[in-house]
Amino acid sequence: MEETHHDVTEALARVRGEIGRSIKDHGRRPGSVTLVAVSKTMPAERIRPALVAGQRVFGENRVQEGQQKWPKLRAEFPGVELHLIGPLQTNKVKEAIAHFDVIETLDREKLAAELAREIHRSGKSPELYVQVNTGAEGQKAGILPQDADGFIRLCRETYGLGISGLMCIPPVDQPPSPHFALLAGIARRNGLTTLSMGMSADYDAAIQLGATHVRIGSAIFGARH
Ligand SMILES: *Cc1c(COP(=O)(O)O)cnc(C)c1O
Repeated sequence: MEETHHDVTEALARVRGEIGRSIKDHGRRPGSVTLVAVSKTMPAERIRPALVAGQRVFGENRVQEGQQKWPKLRAEFPGVELHLIGPLQTNKVKEAIAHFDVIETLDREKLAAELAREIHRSGKSPELYVQVNTGAEGQKAGILPQDADGFIRLCRETYGLGISGLMCIPPVDQPPSPHFALLAGIARRNGLTTLSMGMSADYDAAIQLGATHVRIGSAIFGARH
């Protein structure tokens, strides 16, 4: 019952304030961290207050949900940048490219091939981040850390894809900082400057370790059901 009265506007302002404080505390450049408001499972009525408050960068983890919710919201609020942060099946690539501006979950050759084909066909080119499975968890998406350099090269050289950054989701049962540091190291040696890391529980540590994008859901929109 309580979440019904959750104030998105107030929570968003609080999160923005905390991001600003982290940036200052860790000596990061002002404006160098983008808040990706993760609106997965949230209905449009819950997302609208964030848009009214000026938030324009959002994350969804399912292609179909993005496709259903966002065309109408985009028509109402120009300038939205939508990130796909969940696993992408090759048979959904066409819809993903049509509806998302950034795809954060490129993690296998078959997907690279399909993205290259569809980008060529559609003339649209979303920004692409490679997802790294920093904890080498069996059930989790993402390229293994030891395969990341080779995979980034393959995407660039074989498939002609512009890779702009890396993304990770650390294991829930471990301190996140070593995972953020690992991702930052892979980015550095591959000439990548965009790092999508840090969620509601750990974005301060991610900002300390160089995050350029923090993906925050529950701290803004309240608990998901
Ligand atoms: C849901 C989700 C988030 C946001 O998680 P919160 O803990 O609610 O901030 C971030 N990244 C990904 C990939 C997610 O699926």
